Amino acid sequence: MEQIIIDKFRKSIHGQLILPGDEDYDEVRKVWNGMIDKHPALIVRCTDEADVIAAVNFARTQELLVAVRGGGHNVAGFGTCDEGIVIDLSPMKKIEVDTVNRTARAEPGLTWGEFDQATQVHKLATTGGLVSTTGIAGFTLGGGFGWLVRKYGLAVDNLLSVNMVLANGQKINAGPSENAELFWGVRGGGGNFGVVTSFRYQLHDVGHMVFGGAFFYTAEKAIELLRFYRDWTPEMSDELTTMVAFITAPPEPFIPKELVGTPMIVLALCYTGPVSQGEEVIEALRSATKPDIEHVGPVPYLALQTMFDDTAPNGIHSYWKTEYFGNLNDDTINVLVEQATKMKELSHFSAVHLHHWGGAIDCVDKNRTAFTNRNAPYVLNVIGQWNDPESADKHIAWTRNFSRAMQAYSTGQKYLNFMGDEDRSRVKAAYDPITYERLVALKNKYDPTNFFRLNQNIELTANGA
Ligand code: FAD
Repeated sequence: MEQIIIDKFRKSIHGQLILPGDEDYDEVRKVWNGMIDKHPALIVRCTDEADVIAAVNFARTQELLVAVRGGGHNVAGFGTCDEGIVIDLSPMKKIEVDTVNRTARAEPGLTWGEFDQATQVHKLATTGGLVSTTGIAGFTLGGGFGWLVRKYGLAVDNLLSVNMVLANGQKINAGPSENAELFWGVRGGGGNFGVVTSFRYQLHDVGHMVFGGAFFYTAEKAIELLRFYRDWTPEMSDELTTMVAFITAPPEPFIPKELVGTPMIVLALCYTGPVSQGEEVIEALRSATKPDIEHVGPVPYLALQTMFDDTAPNGIHSYWKTEYFGNLNDDTINVLVEQATKMKELSHFSAVHLHHWGGAIDCVDKNRTAFTNRNAPYVLNVIGQWNDPESADKHIAWTRNFSRAMQAYSTGQKYLNFMGDEDRSRVKAAYDPITYERLVALKNKYDPTNFFRLNQNIELTANGA
């Protein structure tokens, strides 16, 4: 590309334009997943909507491959690319909280940690991620669940409207009464239709304190614990959100020295009802399962939101697979535990998360948003994670074999936010067929050249609309 063209573009934006050879290029090109090592030709660090419009127009006229980055946590590394342009939204971090209507208008460069800090000043929150460094943008567009999900629904269920920039550079608002079909598609359709420059969310009166934390069990109790979990979860209050995780015990002060580094099962939870009732709500769990370690009680919501941060440091190498289960029958549990046991040969950052959904997720009409895989109660995330690049093959093979072994028990549905770089048939599995066709029609209308293609891509009908 001619220097004169680059210079003209640089002058037209308020943010920074970073090119190979610039001092901070190697730092800025990184995304969360250390396994992704891409070298974009240009990185535009947008500071406002005008920068996003300029970047989209520049990329289109120069026919560049486009990656859009919010928090950079997409595990497949869709937030960057080789040779093309990265539209980096991470400097866009404004947030306005309306305490009267309990809403927040938030820019796409915010992480959940930053969002929570701003809303918790007013004792408010909305459903955000389990790791505070995750970006609000990609998270929300793919569904988005966290500790508040069973009470308040997914992030898409709390989304009230968005401002976007389309592939043709046009600004557009989408909400229930304005471009409603696009608003439907944005809520679960990922980054397929344009760049969102601001999200407006419903907030809730969560308070500063919730009841939560984690029980820890030694590995031989896995089957017994999962059988209890299967019977307990259908009875559970919607104010209680839980997950079971297979981990390697970390060197935390509350873990006895002899257990650090051993395989353990964690049952992590958040109760958003009255804190004083927390003990009562978990009594059946505690008495039936007899945890080896208890780390549960009243906890600041902000602390709970960072509880898992150390398990997913920036730059870790990561490879994920996801499945949904309609139930946890004995066969499913046996195979799951058998596969998880093989984790002992892997880096201690590897883990298996089994999330319990239902509650408010399942109460939403299936046609209200493009996020339609709502009714399976359990979502599995198999997480191969390591630091040593030499051990990539071992971790990827474990993750793939695990996922393959679970196929017979899975509903076949997928959770968009946990998908790696999957083929089209697996992207389709994130939707029911009618929803997918509706998304294809939107893609034809709003992005007929597949300008936004580095995402879980919705396939255009041949020749667009
Ligand atoms: P990015 O990599 O920046 O973006 C991902 C993709 O989203 C981009 O490639 C682009 O296609 C699209 N995109 C991003 N910003 C925009 C925008 N403004 N406009 C249009 N498209 C855009 N998910 C959950 O649901 N719950 C969890 O608890 C959870 N925990 C996680 C913990 C970790 C450590 C990680 C790595 C991921 C987690 N996820 C979770 C998955 C997460 O939701 C997805 O990885 C999501 O894509 C991250 O969003 P991001 O903005 O950080 O990612």
